[in-house]
Amino acid sequence: MLLLRFMLIAVCLGFGLAGAESAHAQVRSLRAVTHAGKRYVTLKDLASMYGLPLSEPGGKTLLVRGQYIVLQFTKNGREAIVNGSKVWLHAPVVQVRGSWSISDADARFVVDPMVRPSAYLGARGTRTVVLDPGHGGKDPGAIGRGGLLEKDVALDLALRTAAHLRANGIRVILTRDTDRFWELKDRPFLAARGGGDLFVSIHLNATGTRSVQGIETFAIAAEHYPPTSDPRLKGRYPAVPNNRFNHSSTILGHQLQRSMVGITRAEDRGLKRARFHVLKNSAMPAALVECGFLSNPQEEQKLATPSYRETVAQGLAQGILNYIALVNRAKVELGAPLLQPSVPAMAGPAAPSPAAAPIPMAARACGPAAAPPPLVAHPVAVAPGPAPAAPAVAAVPPVAMVRPVPAPAVQPPPAARRPVPAPAFLPLPANAPPPSSLLNPSLGSH
Ligand SMILES: [Zn+2]
Repeated sequence: MLLLRFMLIAVCLGFGLAGAESAHAQVRSLRAVTHAGKRYVTLKDLASMYGLPLSEPGGKTLLVRGQYIVLQFTKNGREAIVNGSKVWLHAPVVQVRGSWSISDADARFVVDPMVRPSAYLGARGTRTVVLDPGHGGKDPGAIGRGGLLEKDVALDLALRTAAHLRANGIRVILTRDTDRFWELKDRPFLAARGGGDLFVSIHLNATGTRSVQGIETFAIAAEHYPPTSDPRLKGRYPAVPNNRFNHSSTILGHQLQRSMVGITRAEDRGLKRARFHVLKNSAMPAALVECGFLSNPQEEQKLATPSYRETVAQGLAQGILNYIALVNRAKVELGAPLLQPSVPAMAGPAAPSPAAAPIPMAARACGPAAAPPPLVAHPVAVAPGPAPAAPAVAAVPPVAMVRPVPAPAVQPPPAARRPVPAPAFLPLPANAPPPSSLLNPSLGSH
């Protein structure tokens, strides 16, 4: 075990040095063009920044393929596939002056964080995970046709996920561990009050169409862009507190969606964008997972069984562990971005941005507040030595080091997996201080 641990560290550092050098060599500003009031960058420029070609294999597909990353875009569409997992862009891929282009928000807050997570995750540790089972008490949430209540399934999934995470040495707190009600606006407050570093809200879906099924994950929508549910690029969307974590929330959401779909084999409805209360006010990287449709008879039936709930919980826990592994790897990779933190204004209209100005492609996601970022990268002292042999994306495999998500083809049936102890919760000590009107008494006990 000790030898294995040493080998992991050695591999980690090896990738780290190569990744850091080549990432610094690769990072530079991209030229932006304004189209219909929004800023865009060409996919060709973006791909070449990673040292990769952009190809058009046919139909509506645009492809950027590297050794460890495959990005698939759709002409005139918002659907993209990143390493086999569906991701919804903020704006459709469009032709600008003859070149297929994506919005600068998608380049900066979606694609680049997923291609180079180490450049965005190293600034903030992840010691405490907050799980937020949706609804509760007087609020049942969605109700399945067979009578299954969203609040009950969400709580059970959260308890099972917490058990998996704790078995891996992660500190976990829950916004509720019983059938009680919290206002939506209180939940991010509880997460911050409990010292959380990461917020995952757990819900079940419902819709009027019985055939709709699958899993989808939400991360905060970038400032000035609508949620995925609104295809029109209209309206004013001022920045919200969680926009400070645009990059890391994207990476968290992607890891959750990828892991959940990989383990459950449910339909992949993708990583989407929203401004739900619990997302927009979170003072930490945050995602909301819709773990299936109670309005779909088959999914409701599955979600009623302990074995499928256990599978879903494994997907949630694995996604969180993969994210934490990326954070830990970022800390040793020296993959820090070259630019100062970019903290969006909290309210008010956006200042008009100059056309064709360079876009800083890397901004620290989680650093302290600072003055507006410079438009050019700071000079970085690089030790003399041989030039990096491979581009950043070729040097850094995207697979997390901790229990990577198994491919569906080799996934054992639920019964064959390693048993995980049932969730156990300590009662509050008799001399515990009385809870305030907002602080969940369970926060301090786990
Ligand atoms: Zn819900």
